[in-house]
Amino acid sequence: MSSPHSAGSAPEWSAYVEDFRRAGRQAVDWIAEYLEHTRDYPVLPRIKPGDLMDALPRSAPDKGESFDAVLKDFNDIIMPAVTHWNHPRFMAYFACTGSTPAILAEMLAATLNTNGLHWKTSPAVAELEQVALGWLRQWMGLPDDYFGIIYDTASISSLHAVAAARELADPGARENGSTPNLVLYTSQESHSSIEKAAIALGIGQKNVRKIATDAEFRLRPEALVQAIEQDRAAGKRPFCAVATVGTTSSTSVDPVAAMADIAERYGLWLHIDAAYAGSAAILPECRHILQGAERAHSLVVNPHKWLFLPVDLSAFYTRRPDILRRAFSLAPEYLTPAADPRALNLMDYGIPLGRRFRSLKLWFLLRYFGRERIQQTLRAHIAWAQNLAGMVEADARFEISAPHPFSVVCFRYKGTDDENRALLEAVNATGEVFLSHTVLNGRVVLRVAIGNLGTTWDDVQRAWELLQQHAPKH
Ligand code: PLP
Repeated sequence: MSSPHSAGSAPEWSAYVEDFRRAGRQAVDWIAEYLEHTRDYPVLPRIKPGDLMDALPRSAPDKGESFDAVLKDFNDIIMPAVTHWNHPRFMAYFACTGSTPAILAEMLAATLNTNGLHWKTSPAVAELEQVALGWLRQWMGLPDDYFGIIYDTASISSLHAVAAARELADPGARENGSTPNLVLYTSQESHSSIEKAAIALGIGQKNVRKIATDAEFRLRPEALVQAIEQDRAAGKRPFCAVATVGTTSSTSVDPVAAMADIAERYGLWLHIDAAYAGSAAILPECRHILQGAERAHSLVVNPHKWLFLPVDLSAFYTRRPDILRRAFSLAPEYLTPAADPRALNLMDYGIPLGRRFRSLKLWFLLRYFGRERIQQTLRAHIAWAQNLAGMVEADARFEISAPHPFSVVCFRYKGTDDENRALLEAVNATGEVFLSHTVLNGRVVLRVAIGNLGTTWDDVQRAWELLQQHAPKH
């Protein structure tokens, strides 16, 4: 009689592998075909909420199905519900790319399934992360004393920055909870993730000061000083300032050097959110956007935005890894093995314990494209944005709404907000392109974001043609 624990034999691993070899080849062909013909898909899916859920069974199958059956449903049911972020005419939010070297690396990383809790569980994860982030740091012209670590998103990276800032200012917070008086400063234009970090860490929304910006949507340093002085006079404890290099709405760049002066004067941790525009610092002519970063405490850049990596990979750098470690390490020193100082335990530098092999795709990408091809592409995107801005200016029906130092152009039809919204809807309904909007100075503004590796100047021109065709004639 068999024991309850040996009810039959487990299926053979080798049979799974054989199935995979056949379906895997098909899938790679499918991927190449998709990447070659992404333009044939409407950028936005033509489905209603709930359509996908209604098309799928309510329960998972009892008996396994063939890859053929699953792939068929992937094509017939899942694909029609996909918004094609990898489409050359996806120009909404920040355009991005799942590029070929990274796709390959993701397959390999999933195959190894190695988990970098600490050095011993995966030396490759611990060390390649340092190497790849070191290479990227050099390309961006950041100083060597910036320690790098990968998190999933910029939101989580900034959460770690604010936690480290709190650790420095209020070391008792780790044990006792935050002191109620801590105050964080950032601009009105900064990303919501900064406020969310304050919510998550118990700093509280009321202790986030959204500092006024100038006519070009940059934080005003004198308003920052004024707010800090007021808080100090009221018995509050300013502890952190966050500068944005490339704001989400208009891609404005806060005055980092002036903010570094202020941070030094008042003893604040300075974090730079360069999630989108940090990649531009790879171009020597844009390096100035990070001037002052050598005096910041931390910085985040998202290669999954404008550096052609698929989500997710956020590169977080800090000049105070000791403080980050003090904020998060839970293994008492006397319990840690006598470690070689080169054997980094990345679990000590943040919330996640498990760590997938994200650096593999960054390393593949940096090697496969090399700095020159990346620079060439970033330069083309910036040049096309400037050309587009010129065409917008030449049409009397439109006006430019913000400076456009990078690859995003904000502009509006000279009409009502509703007319701008209707124009956006009409253009997106064609399926040929996907654009998004924002609000600047209280008015609805249209955004064209260039950033996909497959985008050509013809694509940008087509987006503009569609806008012109659908805009009311004056
Ligand atoms: N910071 C800025 C300036 C952003 O524009 C964004 C997203 O667009 C984020 C942070 C959040 O990025 P993530 O989705 O990686 O959390």
